Amino acid sequence: MAFAFIILKNISLQCFPLFNYFCFLIIFSMIVQLTGFFLYMPMFIGRLLEYHQSRHYNAPFLLIVSILIFNYILERWLDVLNSKKWSDTLPDEVKDVYDATQYRKSQQYKQVNDKFGLITSTFSFLVVIFMLFYHVFGFIDTWARTLTDNPVLVAIIFFGVLMLASDIINTPFALYDTFIIEEQFGFNKTTFKTFIFDKIKGWILVAVIGGGVITLIIWLYNKSEQYFWLYAWGALTLFSVFMTVFYSTLIVPLFNKQTPLEEGELKNAISNFCKKAGFRLQNIFVIDGSRRSTKANAYFTGLGKRKRIVLYDTLIKDLTTEEIVAVLAHEIGHYKKRHTIYGIVFGIIQTGIMLYVFSLFTVNPQLSSALGAKVKGVHMALMAFGVIYSPFSTLIGVFMNFVSRKHEYEADNYASGFGYGSQLVSGLKKLSSNNLSNLTPHPAYVFFHYSHPTLLQRVLAINKKG
Ligand SMILES: [Zn+2]
Repeated sequence: MAFAFIILKNISLQCFPLFNYFCFLIIFSMIVQLTGFFLYMPMFIGRLLEYHQSRHYNAPFLLIVSILIFNYILERWLDVLNSKKWSDTLPDEVKDVYDATQYRKSQQYKQVNDKFGLITSTFSFLVVIFMLFYHVFGFIDTWARTLTDNPVLVAIIFFGVLMLASDIINTPFALYDTFIIEEQFGFNKTTFKTFIFDKIKGWILVAVIGGGVITLIIWLYNKSEQYFWLYAWGALTLFSVFMTVFYSTLIVPLFNKQTPLEEGELKNAISNFCKKAGFRLQNIFVIDGSRRSTKANAYFTGLGKRKRIVLYDTLIKDLTTEEIVAVLAHEIGHYKKRHTIYGIVFGIIQTGIMLYVFSLFTVNPQLSSALGAKVKGVHMALMAFGVIYSPFSTLIGVFMNFVSRKHEYEADNYASGFGYGSQLVSGLKKLSSNNLSNLTPHPAYVFFHYSHPTLLQRVLAINKKG
């Protein structure tokens, strides 16, 4: 009820008149869709049961289900470890991050997010398991094949239906997260209008980029089954380098405004530092993160001439000039130590290995039938393989996080080398406080999921050097 009220409040307060009409249309169409969905549901379930009766479960199916159950248990176990790691007193080095009220608030934020995470992950796990046991994937594939014979179109319809369905299922959770949880803790700045437009832009992006990549992969596969993995690797490498270079100029402007840093005290301080560090100042941009959230951040992106450092406007608002220069020094450290290049090269190698292993698997028609397909199809094999390969990608992810944490220490060290150690510490503390960060995560959780060391670890490392 409170949820519906907040949505309505957002609609009436934050939408201009024409937009009220637009909101009404969206809500109306959602009601029509839901009614249609429930009317169609009995027929859908009937067809599905018919389809389901003709199937049996093969070895890859059992493997897929076991992997999903194992993943689910591992993730929940890590969550439980992390959520149980309470402490009423913080270590001395990070004691000054929160006052008593703010610390209580950060713990409440953590609790609410833990509960929400448990509900959403359990829900999606159950949906996927249901879809596997009832061969929903195979059902969609068979249906897509009644519409067209073209393998590229079948794959696009297949993934399109799945993505649309998963988006419809996930939207209520996203609404709850943004307009209830983030709102309650004072982070949310997203209006209902921004939320809807983000969704629409997201769909268009997925349709264009996702559709393009799927078309390319299926087309290459049908051209040459044997060398498919090599061609696909080449194509995906070109694509990922292109995206790294043009991400800031093509994708970010769809969602945010980026402006070169304005003249003034901050720019002078930064320009002095850039001269010392040998970094071109033209590449520093300010992004309007405050459009969606009060949370602050800064990041490094791009390659060659198109490299840039992006500072959130919220970061500039919350931190002192010296602290911002310290954060910037950290980001320049990433550039100077070539961390972006390492990331790209590692990603390329990883994709190559994955595609090669996939090419060994794909000859096996059992992979498609594990998901309930009646005809062998590369998109079905790809999907089944995605799950079977996931334990390896988890391991790779853990390794990548380990490398990333090492890079964070190196970038901190770079900033400290210019005498910005103490400013970096106070800047990081402010960021942690404003974002209500968890200061005492469980080490196992950090090992699996954290791309950055914890604040305490960073402060200890910086103090040791400085
Ligand atoms: Zn960093």
